[in-house]
Amino acid sequence: MARVIYKPRGRAREYSPLALNLYRGCSHGCTYCYAPGCMHTTSCAWHSTVTPREGLLKKLEADAREMEGDPRRVLLCFLSDPYQPADDVHQLTRQALEILGRHRMKAQILTKGGTRACRDFDLMRQHDVHLGVSLSFVTDEARAKWEPEAASVEDRVELLRRAHRAGIYTWVSVEPVILPDEALAVIRRFRRYVRFWKVGKLNHMRDIERGIDWPAFRGAAVKALDRAGADYYIKKDLLAARATP
Ligand code: SF4
Repeated sequence: MARVIYKPRGRAREYSPLALNLYRGCSHGCTYCYAPGCMHTTSCAWHSTVTPREGLLKKLEADAREMEGDPRRVLLCFLSDPYQPADDVHQLTRQALEILGRHRMKAQILTKGGTRACRDFDLMRQHDVHLGVSLSFVTDEARAKWEPEAASVEDRVELLRRAHRAGIYTWVSVEPVILPDEALAVIRRFRRYVRFWKVGKLNHMRDIERGIDWPAFRGAAVKALDRAGADYYIKKDLLAARATP
């Protein structure tokens, strides 16, 4: 039987040693989404139809049984969002967290789905799940332009607030950075709800990338993160980025 828990490659490896994709497709429709390219399909196709992967739970059960007790965290998900609207119907995320927890495997979530994720707080607490929220903007106008069908900024911050209050380990992925001032404002404004930060630059959109002074952003981000007092990780691309001549 084909495995569903896999080792991410390249940049994704900086996020997690293991990962799991629950759905084929993602209705959040982010303009910068790399998933259609990875899956050799069009943005339109990937963002318009969302279906559970075939036999997913059975395959996950088999993988988790074989990997019982593996200490590496499994990230849900890279190529779709575990708390997109389709999960209201299928509830695969809840079932996946139950399976992983039953086999003493650790999970980490990465979502733009907002407070929809609160329904699984009981499992997150029970199985020490790390809850990650993607947040690169503070204004909802910018969010709506780049992540049109994802949860609003306010809803994602509300998720962080509630999770933090509930004692769940929270982290934020500030990636891709498209508007540096907005990304810095995310770190400054919401730091009290966040235990860990990951910051990464925009890739694959050359025209916008060239217009950003990455060393200046990196310096300001490190300063803001140091002030935030939480642990953080700056992705390799951002560490290596030079000023555009
Ligand atoms: S949430 Fe992730 S997978 Fe979904 S559209 Fe946005 S970038 Fe793509």
